[in-house]
Amino acid sequence: MTQAVFDSAAQPAAQPTPIPLRELLPWVVFGGLLLLLALYFVGAEQGATSLVPGMYVHEFVHDGRHLLGFPCH
Ligand SMILES: [Zn+2]
Repeated sequence: MTQAVFDSAAQPAAQPTPIPLRELLPWVVFGGLLLLLALYFVGAEQGATSLVPGMYVHEFVHDGRHLLGFPCH
């Protein structure tokens, strides 16, 4: 038991490898689109630009609207 602890302590620490930008870029674009969609639903899903009929989405993100300072009521 103690021998295994000493063996693992003698190994050099694993070094993190950076993620290449070519592999990271699609996920950055995807995350940005998700954030823009969330910003749309929080800030503009109301009235003439409404995609979902009714007030369900508006009520669901209502606290987020006030937190981000969008005009509401
Ligand atoms: Zn409000």
